Amino acid sequence: MTTEPSRPSGRPTPSDPSVTARMSRQARRDTAPEVALRRELHRRGLRFRVDWPLPRMPRRRADIAFTRSHVAVFVDGCFWHSCPEHRTAPAANSAWWATKLDTNVRRDQATNEHLAALGWTVLRFWEHEDPLLAADAVAAAVRPPAAIGHPSGRGGCHETPPPATKVTSSTETATDRIQ
Ligand SMILES: [Zn+2]
Repeated sequence: MTTEPSRPSGRPTPSDPSVTARMSRQARRDTAPEVALRRELHRRGLRFRVDWPLPRMPRRRADIAFTRSHVAVFVDGCFWHSCPEHRTAPAANSAWWATKLDTNVRRDQATNEHLAALGWTVLRFWEHEDPLLAADAVAAAVRPPAAIGHPSGRGGCHETPPPATKVTSSTETATDRIQ
């Protein structure tokens, strides 16, 4: 029962078994909420990379990445990423934990900014969120209303405007395809 290290340099010896469990859980890939989301996305015909190394950001990975549409998805653990509903502060080594968890949050923010700067869409979900709703959001991001014909080549040439006939007017039909 010592109030342990004041420096967040090393991992303290957890005195609480539940903390030990959570610590080991961090290392685990394929958490249940993540798997549930992946399964649902797969069911909807979406294909993606799993545990994908982020470009130009060593040692960071997206849980799910759509490399063509540039959408990165993270399923954040409520404890490790300080979910506002479920975050808890371990009683033992509280200073170390406070620093540790705060670092995680700032790390997430830096990751978001990095990806956004590269033109990626970042979606983060808490592990407590409904995987079906999460899948809805992901599908919407990955499959933007492509049915709405947008002029693809907006070149600088203004002398001869391309025939406007090919621009199909927005039909609002194909949007509700996702079950
Ligand atoms: Zn939560």
